[in-house]
Amino acid sequence: MARIFSGIQPSGELHIGNYLGAVKNWVALQHEHPAFFCIVNYHAITVPYTPEDLRRRTREMAVSLFAAGLDPARAVVFVQSDVPEHTELAWVFNTLTPLGELERQVQFKDKAGRQEQVMAGLLNYPVLQAADILLYLADIVPVGEDQVQHLELSRVIARNWNARFAPDAPLFPEPQPRLTPMRRIVGLDGQAKMSKSLGNTIGLLESPEAVWDKLRPAVTDEQRTRKRDPGEPERCRTVYPLHKAFSTPAVVAEVEANCRSAGWGCIDCKKALHASMTAELAPIQARAADLAARPMAVDELLADGGQRARRVARETMAVVRDRMGLDASA
Ligand code: SF4
Repeated sequence: MARIFSGIQPSGELHIGNYLGAVKNWVALQHEHPAFFCIVNYHAITVPYTPEDLRRRTREMAVSLFAAGLDPARAVVFVQSDVPEHTELAWVFNTLTPLGELERQVQFKDKAGRQEQVMAGLLNYPVLQAADILLYLADIVPVGEDQVQHLELSRVIARNWNARFAPDAPLFPEPQPRLTPMRRIVGLDGQAKMSKSLGNTIGLLESPEAVWDKLRPAVTDEQRTRKRDPGEPERCRTVYPLHKAFSTPAVVAEVEANCRSAGWGCIDCKKALHASMTAELAPIQARAADLAARPMAVDELLADGGQRARRVARETMAVVRDRMGLDASA
């Protein structure tokens, strides 16, 4: 059965953009495929950080992932640095990757342009990403559109390694993207993709009161300036898409009708959204509170996931070392 791999940065508590754009899809996929979900802390150190903060954000991310529904009985959920084979395979792949391929990556150009000094780790980020995926011989990678270029590079690396070292029996599959159903969650400013660095997010674990404080001023259909003006749900870049994500089809139909007829003002519509969000997020928040109160249990779940991931990673690296002549002392 096709194997899935996906990773997420240890950015602390999930926000609803991560949840809708990635994690909710992972929760569904874990029932259909063998799956590996990784908190990619080696990637996180390619930009400035502090060790205490990274540790805290890693634990918070684990709590959010388990609370959102990743089930350790179904999927392997682990922290990247618990499996050192990620960096070993990344080094191997670095020796096969032309510099020009890395310099062309849009994400590198974007991130490098925002830093005074650019470290080699940032340039090599997509090579480590290829190692993350191929270490588990993953066939499918659930990604957002912004990661498609990196995944193409993973396929090129897999193809090159197979051609050079295992032409008779290719080891690595060429992983295919599975674009997430909710491709781009716009932030509450109605301008850019939801992102912590832009301050336009709602945290998955925020209280109903805090969520309302953020929803209330959220940008909607800007051509609708008075309550009696009919609106266009399709022009509403924040509240309507979130209704489609959180509300039942019956509520979404009600939103559409009342927006077009001016039966509801935007505040009425936001109240309905707030009720839908609270209904979905309340059980997640209860699970998160329970896990956060038991940090050792979270550590044990991650340690177990790390051991299961490492078993697979070791098998892959044994073949890689054998095929590349790196096992001379074995
Ligand atoms: Fe958006 Fe709802 Fe206002 Fe229509 S009524 S513009 S869907 S918030």
